[in-house]
Amino acid sequence: MLSNRGAVMLSSNYSHLYNSYARIPLNFTHGQGAYVYTDTAEEYLDFTSGIAVTGFGHAHPYINEALEQQAKKLWHLSNLFTIELQEKLASRLCAISFADKVFFANSGTEAVECAIKTARRYHFIQGNSEKNTIVSFCGAFHGRTLAALAATGNKKYLEGFAPKAPGFVQFSPQLPIAELEQQLQAMHNNIAAILIEPIQGEGGVNVIPDSMLQFLRRFCDANNCLLIFDEVQTGIGRTGQVFAYQHSGVKPDLMCLAKGLGNGFPIGACLGTEKAASAMTPGTHGSTFGGNLLAMAVANAVLDLILQPDFLAQSTEISNLLYKELSKIANKHSAIIEAPLGRGFLLGLKAKIPNEKLITACRNNKLLTLGGGNNVMRILPPLNITKEHVEQAAQKLDKACTDLQP
Ligand SMILES: *Cc1c(COP(=O)(O)O)cnc(C)c1O
Repeated sequence: MLSNRGAVMLSSNYSHLYNSYARIPLNFTHGQGAYVYTDTAEEYLDFTSGIAVTGFGHAHPYINEALEQQAKKLWHLSNLFTIELQEKLASRLCAISFADKVFFANSGTEAVECAIKTARRYHFIQGNSEKNTIVSFCGAFHGRTLAALAATGNKKYLEGFAPKAPGFVQFSPQLPIAELEQQLQAMHNNIAAILIEPIQGEGGVNVIPDSMLQFLRRFCDANNCLLIFDEVQTGIGRTGQVFAYQHSGVKPDLMCLAKGLGNGFPIGACLGTEKAASAMTPGTHGSTFGGNLLAMAVANAVLDLILQPDFLAQSTEISNLLYKELSKIANKHSAIIEAPLGRGFLLGLKAKIPNEKLITACRNNKLLTLGGGNNVMRILPPLNITKEHVEQAAQKLDKACTDLQP
């Protein structure tokens, strides 16, 4: 018999979990597609997708089947051995991107760590170990491990965790390009890589203009620096292309993926060109769980779905519809929200009241959304929703704004 010793009542008001999250007291027990259900059988439309993770919604039958089939065969081997499902996923990711090489990790922050290490070692091998600074941008989010946190640069997240890891410098993404160029030029001998999200997600759905990405590419090429795109949030169809960089045509040397790649199964990946990844020889990096067979089976299934002909065209059509609905509501409730931000299904509404109030009002109308920097409410639906979901969400948001009317 399995012992149940240690079980406690959930209703006890002392939580043994770290207090590091401000949790909403809703207890969801199951989900189906774009909906989640509480222990009291209340239905919510989930436009958080677990923070841009469950791009195909909850309990997707095709993804579930892939997980169940793999669970019966083999869960975990470690990277001591050849893993065919890793080879398969890596070759598919490379076939649809700029990349030639992939390292599998378990989270976004680990994908970022891998990119930072890859960039530094690239220069080290060339005898340029002074090229070790990572340039990133204000409003960025790259994760919570100590190096990714230094790249994130958010004072609130760094507080109490000093010393901040050395070798990170940040600039405002709003700087005029000429001014940024001057500042970067002054330190180019020390720059290993420039790290940027094509759309800042956590920062509040801040779309980086193509002209900026084009400038960064030019600068990196001219100064032997690597360009890293953090597509942990923007990748895997979230913006209407498989990767957000494809909208701009600017290709990075390294790219970080995670969130949407596993539809909720933990996975991260760092993709690179042959050249950028060339210094990562045996023993230079590793991960016990990275490339786990369950994660590989799930991510391959996610790719099957995202690469269906017309899937992204259809998803874009529905996201355009949602954008239009959001614009209408923003017009109608102009005292509460501004015009929508973002691209594809990475959308946001800048609130004119505290964004938490708007998010709460949506939640009271059974629509789940989430916050972002700059007082934005983020809207991150599954990529496969229909017109009906859009209409429902629009009604709920309209009602939420009406509820907030003074
Ligand atoms: C969420 C996120 C991360 C961190 O991912 P974790 O899986 O939470 O470590 C890094 N970069 C971006 C752009 C993200 O949105």
